[in-house]
Amino acid sequence: MDPFDSNSTERANLPRNMIENSMFEEEPDVVDLAKDSTAFPTFPALDPDEVAYEPRSSRLLVRGLGENDMDEDEEDCESSARLLGMSFMNRSSAHRSSSSPYSRQAPPRSCSRPSARTMVVCVLFLVIVASMTMVLYFLPGCTFTKTGCRKATFEPVYPVSTNGELFPWALFRLPHSIRPLSYDLTLNPDLDNMIFTGCTVINMFVLHNTKRIVLHSANLNITKATFKLGDGEPSDVTVLEYKPNHQIAVKFSEDLKAGQHCVLTLDYSASLSHTYDGFYNSSYIDKDGNKRVLAATQFEPLSARKAFPCFDEPAFKATFLIRISRKPDFLTLSNMPKAKTTLLPNGLMQDEFEKTSVNMSTYLVAFIVANFSPISKNVSETLVSVYSVPEKMEHTDYALDTASKLLEFYNDFFEINYPLKKLDLVAIPDFLAGAMENWGLITFRETSLLVGKQSSPMEKQVVASVTAHELAHQWFGNLVTMSWWNDLWLNEGFATYMQYTSLQTVLPQLDIGNLFLAVRFRALDKDALNSSHAVSTEVNTPEQVEEMFDSVSYEKGASILLMLNASLPGDQQFRKGIIQYLKQFSGFNTDTDDLWNSLTQVEVSTQHQNVSEMMSSWTSQKGFPLVTVSLKGDQVTLTQEHFLLTSDNATHTSSLWNIPVTYVNDSCSLDPECRQVFTLKTKSGTFKLPGSVKWLKLNYRNTGFYIVHYGDEGWAALREALSNNVSVLTHEDRASLIHNIFALSRLGRVSFRHVLNLLNYLSNETETSPVTEALLQLNNIYRLLDKRQAHSLVARMKNYILSHFSSLINKQTWTEEDSVSKQELRSALLETACTLNEESCTQQAKALFKQYVESNGTSRIPGDLQQVVFNVAGQSTEDWLTLHNMYGHVTYDSEKRKMLRGLASTQDVRRIVWILKEGLKGDLIQTQELPLVISTVCNGFAGYLFAWDFIQENWDRLIEKFPVGSFAIQTIIKSATSQLSTQAHLHQVQGFFSSLKERGSQMRSVQEALETIRLNQRWMDKNLPTLQKWL
Ligand SMILES: [Zn+2]
Repeated sequence: MDPFDSNSTERANLPRNMIENSMFEEEPDVVDLAKDSTAFPTFPALDPDEVAYEPRSSRLLVRGLGENDMDEDEEDCESSARLLGMSFMNRSSAHRSSSSPYSRQAPPRSCSRPSARTMVVCVLFLVIVASMTMVLYFLPGCTFTKTGCRKATFEPVYPVSTNGELFPWALFRLPHSIRPLSYDLTLNPDLDNMIFTGCTVINMFVLHNTKRIVLHSANLNITKATFKLGDGEPSDVTVLEYKPNHQIAVKFSEDLKAGQHCVLTLDYSASLSHTYDGFYNSSYIDKDGNKRVLAATQFEPLSARKAFPCFDEPAFKATFLIRISRKPDFLTLSNMPKAKTTLLPNGLMQDEFEKTSVNMSTYLVAFIVANFSPISKNVSETLVSVYSVPEKMEHTDYALDTASKLLEFYNDFFEINYPLKKLDLVAIPDFLAGAMENWGLITFRETSLLVGKQSSPMEKQVVASVTAHELAHQWFGNLVTMSWWNDLWLNEGFATYMQYTSLQTVLPQLDIGNLFLAVRFRALDKDALNSSHAVSTEVNTPEQVEEMFDSVSYEKGASILLMLNASLPGDQQFRKGIIQYLKQFSGFNTDTDDLWNSLTQVEVSTQHQNVSEMMSSWTSQKGFPLVTVSLKGDQVTLTQEHFLLTSDNATHTSSLWNIPVTYVNDSCSLDPECRQVFTLKTKSGTFKLPGSVKWLKLNYRNTGFYIVHYGDEGWAALREALSNNVSVLTHEDRASLIHNIFALSRLGRVSFRHVLNLLNYLSNETETSPVTEALLQLNNIYRLLDKRQAHSLVARMKNYILSHFSSLINKQTWTEEDSVSKQELRSALLETACTLNEESCTQQAKALFKQYVESNGTSRIPGDLQQVVFNVAGQSTEDWLTLHNMYGHVTYDSEKRKMLRGLASTQDVRRIVWILKEGLKGDLIQTQELPLVISTVCNGFAGYLFAWDFIQENWDRLIEKFPVGSFAIQTIIKSATSQLSTQAHLHQVQGFFSSLKERGSQMRSVQEALETIRLNQRWMDKNLPTLQKWL
């Protein structure tokens, strides 16, 4: 039996140490049963604390949740009965929603483990029968008074705390009977010994009567705890800890009463983290060769709890007052401006920051202790500063200028001013993510923030787009925050969408449109897999939280917003809607429905469809539609189905989308005015054109999130039109045809011969986006053949690619080029040509490298060509050593990263093994670069099996550095497995990941890897003969 064969994100095992408590843990099997069966009349009544806050879209019946906040009444018997009723109500609403056309669930789950499931059903049934018996036994005796009722309350089975006492809480999510109002944090980091002590004072408000306070804490050693109720005296309390859930708790013998205020004060000590999250230490070597240490934070999603005890869920917003001590030659930064500095008796300085003027989620808190230097500028009411290590200050001008322009743009666009008095952008020498949007203190990887004056526009594009993304978060995410991680896309989809659209206005010379188009294609590729997930999806474990940071939340989120904007009448409708949303929910938390409701409210056109109705079909189900079009005279028929890549073609879903299908035709195809819209809500739809046409192109400029199949005749007509005149369609439309036909070949709907036929038009193509898309697709196939060791085909594929693009390749220059679009085209073409050993390309690259080395830093390689040149250098023994030597000395990080890729692209296996090991060690090559090293090694033939071995051997060390489910781990798995296509490799990959159990076997990226290998295998079996014949 294949445990990965089922369409599941379910966990195979009960949570760690929680076997006793499975009833109260979000066990997916239990949830499924609750959804698809009426065999279980009810669940036991829970006490109000058992009612954890849950956003509307991820309610779990097993918890007996209601939609509304609970109040004190619910502790009496009547409300227990009501709670029981609520279970019923929720169940029926779940049924209602599952019968809605947009929430039809994907394929039936395969019954791979009938016996386990049956066991779970039986155990559950017994538990429920027992609970019902207890309820029935107690209810008659209940006098419907509080006393009578309390006896009747079902007592859950609690886990055991570290001190042996029962821990008073069993769920992953916190209870919401207590709300934090403000935190007062004092931190004393010791960078010499890599430890810190802290004191956290939390002011809280009691929402419902309760005998416990439960909050988060991870790896903190709590040394003293006091508690004060109302105006009473503080007294010492015992803190219990349950490590598997990162929770601590204080129990009380008497109820804390709703409406009361209380204060918990916790003293603690901890080590600075050695990974990239929590309060972590980092270091760099300065220009004099001295090691300089620093400490910084990265809390999103679940690591604020590693720096201070807190209610670490996004919906628990509060204010923060932060104090940090430091040595006199260091500086500290936090979300707010510094209020005062005092000299401590031990000779250290203590900086106190203003109390936050806004309520914020814990994951947005940040602080840094370092010796950085700033440059600053006033923008409206805000002081904008960029910080870096002192020797890189000369690379900060561009970021300051760009951030200032973007801040002005967003203030104006959202009609809400950025609410803080300062905004710092800080380049951290060792930082895993691209950047993090902490409120008022955005942290970046150096390559995402620093560019030299000489840098190429492509490097500036990276800095501008990351800055635009993080600044957009100051509104989307910081001001209005998703209630829970299931709706992460509300943060990330929006920031990604704004990142591209703001730059089109603010810095049009960066030509960001090509990049946005390419990321939409990649989001489609990922979302076509069965292992994909709905944009808004249930999240119940830390690993699942980590996994939400993927291209579905980011790029698909952005794509569906683009589609919505493009389908609304007038260009201001969408903007009005999001202004309304931001104003209505400013300072609060939301879920997906709140956004659609705001957008629906501002609609002026009554004929226009309801936004909620349309968009919920895109956020509540995974995947996207394939639209097939057939044209008979002036009659057009469209049909939709789920574009689902499966290796057996046997899985079908009945998912339907509400698709705003756009189209143009041969008489009018370029101007936006030519665009017509037909809304396809049902399986198929028909409409009439004003007259007959030669061809139709659907999904004008690829603003919709769907793929189109034109049928044999439709494709032939488009092909002919393009071979007569490529300019008959926009370049986005041409790129979309190329992307779609490769996708259809992977789906098995068109033969690869059709793909090659379409590509014939490319000899006349000169625009960036169609060429780069075609190159990417062909290179993918080339690498598959290469890894398959299909030698004769590899050679023919190489000739095919080079001959198709030879005239374009020959036209490329090797000198400075200003246009970003031309740089993108040139670097893609030359990287392909040099990788395929095209002689004039490698000669040019070698000559440029030689000139660069001999000039001793005075001659420059154009930024967009550095990668090509360093890759070629990486292939020769002598140049590799030169490059290696330069890598150790170069300070400019963007160039340094390209050198690293050049080093990792070597085909010398001893060097490959060396570079993988160095990446893990983290001295010469920072560990943050390991995912990049692995992906580069995997692209080459010599190293991909070594890399796979390396990952298996070092898995535990990898997940120590990069959490299970994190984007870094997703990248590593994908790099190592996406080019495999044989049964033997499939078995190996499957065997390894299933042996990991809770160390990673349940990850969605593992399922994705296995699916991809199967699909590669199927594609190869089907298309190798075609390739033999036609290449
Ligand atoms: Zn983001």
